[in-house]
Amino acid sequence: MGTVAEATARRYETVIGLEVHVELATRSKMFCACSTAFGAPPNSQVCPVCLGLPGALPVPNHQALAYALRAALALECAVDPDCRWDRKNYHYPDLPKGYQITQYARPIARNGQLCFVSGGEERAVRIRRLHAEEDTGKSTHEGVAAAFTGVDLNRAGVPLIEIVSEPDIRSPEEARLYLQALRTLLLYTGVSDVKMEEGSLRCDANISLRPAGAMEYGALVEVKNMNSFRSVQRALEYEEQRQAAALDAGERIVRETRHWDEKRGITFSSRSKEEAHDYRYFPEPDLGPCALSPAFIEEQRRLLPELPGARQARYRALGLSDYDTGVLVADPALAAFYDRMLEAGAAPREGAALLTVELLGRLNALGASVVGSGCLVRPEQLAALQKLVAAGTISGKIAKGVLDDMVASGKDPAAIVAERGLQQISDAGAVEQAVRAAIAAHPQSVADYRAGKKQALGFLVGQVMKETKGKANPALVNDVLRQELDAGGGV
Ligand code: ADP
Ligand code: MG
Ligand code: ZN
Repeated sequence: MGTVAEATARRYETVIGLEVHVELATRSKMFCACSTAFGAPPNSQVCPVCLGLPGALPVPNHQALAYALRAALALECAVDPDCRWDRKNYHYPDLPKGYQITQYARPIARNGQLCFVSGGEERAVRIRRLHAEEDTGKSTHEGVAAAFTGVDLNRAGVPLIEIVSEPDIRSPEEARLYLQALRTLLLYTGVSDVKMEEGSLRCDANISLRPAGAMEYGALVEVKNMNSFRSVQRALEYEEQRQAAALDAGERIVRETRHWDEKRGITFSSRSKEEAHDYRYFPEPDLGPCALSPAFIEEQRRLLPELPGARQARYRALGLSDYDTGVLVADPALAAFYDRMLEAGAAPREGAALLTVELLGRLNALGASVVGSGCLVRPEQLAALQKLVAAGTISGKIAKGVLDDMVASGKDPAAIVAERGLQQISDAGAVEQAVRAAIAAHPQSVADYRAGKKQALGFLVGQVMKETKGKANPALVNDVLRQELDAGGGV
């Protein structure tokens, strides 16, 4: 019994290592002053340096190095203050210089780790290296005659970091979880907007299989061209099954690059620039060692915010559910919103539920998020709403209606409650009146209750709540109803 994937897992162990490129959110390029802004007319953001014209000299972007450092420190890497630049040589239309400036022998950082939860277990995937480099241009078929390929060099020279994991990942799903955790971590550091759909996070996945229990790794296949977290998982699931079938048939896996075809849901073998594989790396003669000062490195460490792991532990300690913790921690803007609610005095658990379920539900329906102009509700206002419920001024049910109003108008909850007269009725006299009215109107239910049908009480409570438009204090209604019924009043 079990799925094909489970049967495969019994015979083979899957081994995955990821190479992730992340565009850094600097205003200018890695080695020149050209803008990195997205969406400009093709080839409008270029200069002799990023076009590779003879005699032009690169100058490293200080901010890009700062961001690379911050990412490295967040990934718990050891930093190499004396890191170097190298040339990676290959020929391709989107690479006007004929080489890419990258870091080969001396990357800015090594030996880190990324921790995340997979299958309910805490996992740590080792980071082999993190290096800085420049991006290439882009080939394009838009706005060019059918027989031609256009080249847009606006992206050429945009700063990147490449983060290479050790082959520590053990399933396609875990590869997706690793990527999501990496994205969240980088979002916290603020070094990139890390949008896979827009290409500011790109992932190449290496995958091999080995017989269950074997020590030695099998030959790896590199899979490219996935443009969402889901497609990374799907491509690796496909590749896992393909390799298992090949091994079962007695074939040998050869090291190769394969491309993911999203529409057909398959990988196919491709001859690409990576196939040549002789990049003739050599030290970049126009650039010296980076010479990162201890003060610069420490400054970047200081600029790191509370990272997802620490935040998760803090929220758990406040008693939040795994669900609420996960939702809040995954989005630094949301976590910051929640922290402001706490500062404003919201109760941790109730406040979290109001945010993750009630407010987010309403914002999602509007296609809005807690940041930006789409959300009129401020953290302090949501905290105030929670406090109105805690104080018994309104019931939890009424609070939902008040929140609808807050989302639409941005008004303070207390103002809405006052305007619409929504204060909970906790006055015993008023409740008694409503209870007597319900008893008089429903003699059959009263008889049922006295005959031992306890569910009749629920019906009568419902009638009182209806009569008071949901404003009666439910606990008080229950007490008064029981008293009245047991005293034999009404019928
Ligand atoms: P290089 O590209 O420098 O030769 P490797 O090929 O060893 O380095 O590693 C490139 C990526 O492939 C890394 O992310 C690494 O974790 C991963 N990798 C290495 N060996 C395997 C393997 N047998 N199966 C799956 N992934 C692997
Ligand atoms: Mg590689
Ligand atoms: Zn330039």
